[in-house]
Amino acid sequence: MNFRALVTERDTSGEVTSSVQELDDNRLPQGEVTVQVEWAGLNYKDGLCLTGAGGLVRTYPHVAGIDFAGTVSESADSRYGAGDKVILTGWRVGETHWGGYSEKARVDPEWLVPLPDGLGTRDAMVIGTAGLTAMLAIERLERAGLRPESGPVLVTGAAGGVGSIAIMLLAKLGYEAVALSGRTEHAAALTGLGAASILERDAFLAKPDKVLESARYAGAIDNVGGRVLGKLLKQIKYDGHVASIGNAGGIELETTVLPFILRGISLLGIDSVMQPYAARVRAWERIARIFDFGGYAKLVREVELDELPAAAGEILAGRVNGRTLVRVG
Ligand code: NDP
Repeated sequence: MNFRALVTERDTSGEVTSSVQELDDNRLPQGEVTVQVEWAGLNYKDGLCLTGAGGLVRTYPHVAGIDFAGTVSESADSRYGAGDKVILTGWRVGETHWGGYSEKARVDPEWLVPLPDGLGTRDAMVIGTAGLTAMLAIERLERAGLRPESGPVLVTGAAGGVGSIAIMLLAKLGYEAVALSGRTEHAAALTGLGAASILERDAFLAKPDKVLESARYAGAIDNVGGRVLGKLLKQIKYDGHVASIGNAGGIELETTVLPFILRGISLLGIDSVMQPYAARVRAWERIARIFDFGGYAKLVREVELDELPAAAGEILAGRVNGRTLVRVG
């Protein structure tokens, strides 16, 4: 049976373009489970894959889409059967394996998690890789000892997917979440999600640059890297913890050892892509219990497959806020 997919191709001059094409089942990759994809997400990494930036995609033609949710149509694996609702995030799907921007996906069962009770497939993509990663960061900070009474938690890249969901989850769990954003036009939306206060990125970076600055935050969730991460490390309280998730502002990190050896702070790396099954299932179930879909609805936008190339440019330019959902099925 034919199905529609957004196929990303690279021409001999190196230019990468994507178009919606009709494919047949013979084009599907190897895998034990076939999923009828209903919803996918648009993440920063999808922006890279759709434009060829960052060299994440090695083989063309390619189907991008690093996260999706849908219904199993065929399975050769005993854990899944036709009709099961599933979520896929990570495992380099959409990068080195064909991803979710297709009505059909064929995948390794190890990569799937069952849709938690109470969630629909659209809900799962409102949360997506962004929400899963935000929850993994919070859990890592909690394992390090962070508690609501420890003090404020700074979230950078706050108007983006991971940042906005991190703000909401922290607020739901009783933390004082401080949002750092380059786009103050989204301040009201962030306050609506539970941000206790909003910091403007340029003002945050412009303050006098000292090796150590006033200790303000018990923890931080950083989606940006670069100068912002270097700056915030100087403002973490004694024995505080920082979760490093992303590099939307750069991969470099300029710092000194002083925040680490004088304040005993720690920098914790977060990776959602290769998270073991049990940790992913636990995080999904916890998010499903506390996510406020009504409160987050204003930060959700839907696009069709053929609108993705334009949306990819927008997310890389830092112009997208909240979550962009792709209506696939
Ligand atoms: P989004 O594009 O939705 O959000 C990124 C946000 O970062 C933007 O909204 C903007 O926030 C800020 N930003 C963008 N460009 C710059 C810049 N040049 N300088 C400073 N800030 C900037 O992306 P996601 O939320 O999907 O992902 C955030 C980051 O986390 C990405 O780097 C992504 O690759 C990474 N990631 C990592 C994962 C992991 O497993 N480690 C999983 C998921 C994502 P604002 O306008 O509020 O300042």
